[in-house]
Amino acid sequence: MTRADTTAPREWSGADSQVLYAMDKWADGFYSVNQHGHVSVCPLDDQELHIDIMDVIDAARSEGASLPMLIRFQDVIRSRVRRLNQRFQMAIQDSGYAGTYRSIYPIKVNQLQEVVAEILEAGREFNIGLECGSKAELLAVLPLITDETLLLCNGVKDRPMLSLMLNAQQIGQQVIPIIEKYSEFEQLLNLADARQFKPRLGVRLKLNTTGSGRWFESGGVSSKFGLTVPELVKLIQTLENREMAGQLELLHFHLGSQITDIQVLRSAVKEIMQIYADLMLRGLQIKYLDVGGGLGVNYGGDYDNPESSINYGLREYANVVVYTVKEICDERQVPMPHLLSESGRALTAHHSVLVVPVLGVHRPDSPPVAEVPVDSPAVVARMAAVYEDAQAAEKNGALLECYHDAQEIREETEQMARLGYLSVDHMAQSDSLYWSICREVLCKLAASGQTPVSAEQMALEKQLTDMYLGDFSVFHSIIDHWAIGQIFPVMPLHRLQEKPERRGQLVDLTCDSDGKVSRYVLSTGTSEYLLLHHLRQNEPYYLGIFLVGAYQEILGDAHNLFGRVDEVHVYANTDEANGFWIEELLKGISTKEMLSQVQYFPNDLERRMSEFIRRQINAGRIKPAEGTRILNNYTRRLEETTYCEIAPAE
Ligand SMILES: *Cc1c(COP(=O)(O)O)cnc(C)c1O
Repeated sequence: MTRADTTAPREWSGADSQVLYAMDKWADGFYSVNQHGHVSVCPLDDQELHIDIMDVIDAARSEGASLPMLIRFQDVIRSRVRRLNQRFQMAIQDSGYAGTYRSIYPIKVNQLQEVVAEILEAGREFNIGLECGSKAELLAVLPLITDETLLLCNGVKDRPMLSLMLNAQQIGQQVIPIIEKYSEFEQLLNLADARQFKPRLGVRLKLNTTGSGRWFESGGVSSKFGLTVPELVKLIQTLENREMAGQLELLHFHLGSQITDIQVLRSAVKEIMQIYADLMLRGLQIKYLDVGGGLGVNYGGDYDNPESSINYGLREYANVVVYTVKEICDERQVPMPHLLSESGRALTAHHSVLVVPVLGVHRPDSPPVAEVPVDSPAVVARMAAVYEDAQAAEKNGALLECYHDAQEIREETEQMARLGYLSVDHMAQSDSLYWSICREVLCKLAASGQTPVSAEQMALEKQLTDMYLGDFSVFHSIIDHWAIGQIFPVMPLHRLQEKPERRGQLVDLTCDSDGKVSRYVLSTGTSEYLLLHHLRQNEPYYLGIFLVGAYQEILGDAHNLFGRVDEVHVYANTDEANGFWIEELLKGISTKEMLSQVQYFPNDLERRMSEFIRRQINAGRIKPAEGTRILNNYTRRLEETTYCEIAPAE
C-alpha cells in the first residue's frame, strides 16, 4: 500500500482500520475488514467463508429484530472447541503422552441452552464434558448428557445436591462430585451408606501456587475452595479404612479465571503432580488430573492490564500442561493421568458481538464564532486576538503559549461573569473563541507528531473528546468493564474505508456517570478515547463491542431497567446468498416484563393510568378521544423494549 509519492495524502483503507483498531491483537482470525469497509466474520476455521456483519444486521432487522442486538456466531464456538482440543491432541501426540485430554465446559460462563448445546455438539468427537457449580446448574444439565459425558460438580453442595449426584451415578451417568470442603465428603459418605452405594468422587486442592491477575484468590491457600493437604490425607485414610480408595478418581485445582502468566500454571501443575505421584505410589488409582479453568483470552489490552491480556496462546497452554505432567510422571515412574481442563472463557468469549447504534454525538466544545463585534469588552477582544495568534502560530512553543493565554483569559471571563460584568452574549462569544483556540492548537500539536506528547496536548485531547451516545447499557452488556476495568474491543462495523477523524468516547443510556466505555484498544496501546467517524444526517452509525460471549450476559444487571437485548443466532452456510442464515431470533425483555421483576405489574399500572385519565376527562380537562389516545400510547410502550427506538429498516 505504500506509494512512491509520499506527499500526496494517502487514502484510508480497510487495512488501515484493521491496524488502527488493533484487530490482530484480539480478533483471533474471526473478524477482519472486507472490501466494502465492513467488519467481516470468518467463523469456520477450515473454510474461506466470510460473512458481512452489515448483511446480518439487515437480515435480522427485516425479520423483526431491533437494536441494540446481540449476534451469536454459533460456528465460532465450534471453531474454538476444535482449536482447543486439537492443540491438546497435538501436544499429546508430539510428546508421546500416554493419556487423553478432554475439555470440560463450565456452564456458569454462559448457561444459555443454545450455547451449551453447541459446545456439546461441537465437542462430541472430542468427548467434551460439562461442569456445574450450583444446584440449578446441575438440574439444568443432568438431562442433557449422555452416559459417556463427564459431568463435574464443583461449588457448595448441600444434601439435596449430593443426593442428585448419587442418583445420577446410580443410573449410570458419569457425574463426579468434586469435594471442596471436608464436610461435603462426610455427607456424601452418609448418603451413600444409606443406599449401600460406593460413590465416585474427586477432590479440589488448595495449592500454594496462587494465580495471577484479578481472580487469583480463587486458588492459593487463602481460597475459599478446596481441601488442604492434611484434609486430603484424612480423606484418603477414611477411604482406605473402608476399602474405597479406588473411588477417588480425580484431582483438581483452579487458579482463577484469565490466568495472565503461563509460568503460574506451570508451577501449579508441578505442585499438584507431586501430590498425584505420591498418591499413586501409595496405591490409589487416580484417573484424571483436572487443571481447572483460567485459559485466558486476549482482549487486546496492554500487558499492564492483566484482566485484558495474556502472555500465551492455546498451543503454549496445551504444551505446558501436557509436557509438565509427562515430565513428572516419567521422573516419579507413575502412570500418566487423563487430562481435563475446565476452560470456559476461552470457548465462548469470541462468538458474540453486541451491535450498538449511535443515537447522537455530544461535542463538549462550542461551535466557532462568526465574527467578534468591535464594541466587545476587553476580555472578549483579547480572546479574539489570541485566536488570531493561534491561527498564525506554527511552532509548538508558540501554540502552547496561545493555549496558556487562552486559559488565563477564560478564568478572568468566568470571574467577571460571576460578578455580573458580562452579558450572556459576551460569555458565549468568549467561550466559542476559547474552544476555537483549543481546536486550532490541538490540531497543530497533533500534526507535529512530537513525542513525548505534552501534558497540554493530553489535556486538550481529553477536553475535546466527543461523547457518542450508544443505545445500550454498560451495566447490562459489559458489566466487567464497569466492575473490574476489563477491556472489550470496540470499533465501527462499517465506514472502515473512511479515515475516522473524531476522538470519541462511547457513553450509554443510563443516568450514571460510570455508564461509559472508558478504555479502548488501539494499535498504539490502550487509550481513553477511540477514533470514530463524523455522524452523517439520516444515516445509521453502528459500533460493535466484541468478545462479550463469556460471563457478561449472565452477570449483567438491570441498572435503570435496561434489560436483555434482542438476539440472533447465525450459522454460516455457503449455499445461502450471503453465506449465512439466521437460525433463531430471540426478542429481548419487554418493558412490561422488566417492570414486573421489580413488582410493578402491568395490569395495575394500566388500571391506575386509566383511572387518572378518566378523572381528567370527567373534569373536562381533555376530550375523551384524546384521553384514549394518551392511554393507548402508554399501554403500547409497555410492550416495547427497554432501549431507545430506532427507525425500522427500509
Ligand atoms: C469459573 C470456573 C471455571 C471457568 O474458568 P474460565 O476462566 O472461564 O476458563 C472453571 N472451573 C471452576 C471451578 C470455576 O469456578
